[in-house]
Amino acid sequence: MYPADRPLLVVTDAAARLVRRGLVAPGDAVRWRGARVAVFRRGPVVCELPAARVDAPSRAPYFPRDSQPARADSVSYPGARRFAPRMTLALYNTLTRRVEPFQPLAPPRVTLYTCGPTVWNYAHLGNFRTFLFEDLLRRYLEASGYEVFHIMNLTDVDDRTIKAARAAGTTLRQHTEPFVRAFFEDRDYLRLRPAHAHPRATESVPAMIVLVRRLLDRGVAYQGDDGSVYFAIDRFPGYGRLSGLDRREIKVGARVASDEYAKEDPRDFALWKKAGPDDDAVGAAWDAPFGRGRPGWHLECSAMSLYEIGTRFGVETLDIHAGGVDLIFPHHEDEIAQSEAATGRPFARWWLHGEFLNVRGTKMSKRFGNFLAARDLREQGVDAAAVRLLFWQTHYRKPLDFTDEALAAAGEGVKRLGDFRARLVGEGGRGRGEGRLARLAAEFEAAFRAALDDDLNAPQACAALFQLAHAGNRALDAGAGGAVAAVAALDRAMAVLDVLPTPRTPEPDFARWIEAQVAARERARKSKDFKEADRIRAALLARGVELEDTPTGTKWRVA
Ligand SMILES: [Zn+2]
Repeated sequence: MYPADRPLLVVTDAAARLVRRGLVAPGDAVRWRGARVAVFRRGPVVCELPAARVDAPSRAPYFPRDSQPARADSVSYPGARRFAPRMTLALYNTLTRRVEPFQPLAPPRVTLYTCGPTVWNYAHLGNFRTFLFEDLLRRYLEASGYEVFHIMNLTDVDDRTIKAARAAGTTLRQHTEPFVRAFFEDRDYLRLRPAHAHPRATESVPAMIVLVRRLLDRGVAYQGDDGSVYFAIDRFPGYGRLSGLDRREIKVGARVASDEYAKEDPRDFALWKKAGPDDDAVGAAWDAPFGRGRPGWHLECSAMSLYEIGTRFGVETLDIHAGGVDLIFPHHEDEIAQSEAATGRPFARWWLHGEFLNVRGTKMSKRFGNFLAARDLREQGVDAAAVRLLFWQTHYRKPLDFTDEALAAAGEGVKRLGDFRARLVGEGGRGRGEGRLARLAAEFEAAFRAALDDDLNAPQACAALFQLAHAGNRALDAGAGGAVAAVAALDRAMAVLDVLPTPRTPEPDFARWIEAQVAARERARKSKDFKEADRIRAALLARGVELEDTPTGTKWRVA
């Protein structure tokens, strides 16, 4: 039933979206439940019903890899100073459907906006797959010499948060606060680098009011009969560019739901929702020149991102906007419409989207009851490094099936890497200078960079990593030199992937014994008794304690 080319975008849970947009009547929506809507470069939007599903997700990447564009060897940037960006990174841009050489507007700065969690509940592991892919992106940009400014919002007001607060009989703030804290705990557990700004929707309402006014002034928004303010997608010719849902292909179906009658066109979406009794009861209503109400979810992201980059850098265009594939339509499409209609400039130059985390072929979702929270794993004692490695072993643009077996295998891999590093460190001073290990490390780094430069091909980067561990262990068996260079290369890679086992915290008595041994070794070294120093190091290593001599002193950790 598909045209010859592969789909560019697949929207799951299509029924609700189609009804909400007035494209399908509610009565017809029943047979759309569980359907997937596939969008193609050319030709129609194809809707695939569940029974017709043929390909296992892992064998059918939703995004085809286009041929790589030619890469420039050197490019001069206006305003670029003291910085020669590595022109080798290429990223898949959903907007152009191509892998393109990455060039930020004002290097070395990269502005990155990622849609954050809705804090009505705990974020599940599927949400964290998206956040982890964004962490990989950010870390690799930083490792490549860019200065990333990362913004991740917290959606603490929307239909779900209001409904949950109302059901619990609390205010919005009381309901969301524990989930905000939980999100930060989970973020730290999974070793995600904290964003530079975590704006909260409820604290950014003035910026949202300003944006709505701008859109009203420009005539692309209007107040509906119900008092809410809507965006008129008719008056924004670029609507549908990101998702490929060309406006000609959107057929207007029967009008649905009572509030749909308030709009001029059923496809229009709410920027500002007139306050109802529930909104006021939970403290989710604000006064605005166009009436008391609350922001729509799409508006929140546009207003917060434009505010952050506008006040900090004086620009209205993001270098990268990222999120999960389920946000392409309508969320990101609507963000583009609001932002570009207000500023008259491109909203984001690169749009990156991560695929779903599936459980037995179905998207992990609270709605399907097949979700696992990050904290469940933490409580089960799962090392975050194993979760990270598991996710890196599938490309971010391919769906990933989560199984306990795969997680256990990733745990074994993490342990192998930890053991390899401990062996290298154990070589200490003997591993200095040139040697087979140094050559292996240089080969590894070239392969590692080439893989990540190619649209963050983390599976290939991990393969290079395990190849290094395999060949490196054999070289260590043969007494090869160059361990110091190998540790350095490994640590540079870990700054990006961060998949070494979490060090155990030793018991206080054990820690005191280690400290005493380290001090004794230091004294032996000072009096040039290297035989004794080596004996102590070996004794520590036998109990799983690794030493690392750094310019600021000797550091230890328990593997
Ligand atoms: Zn967003």
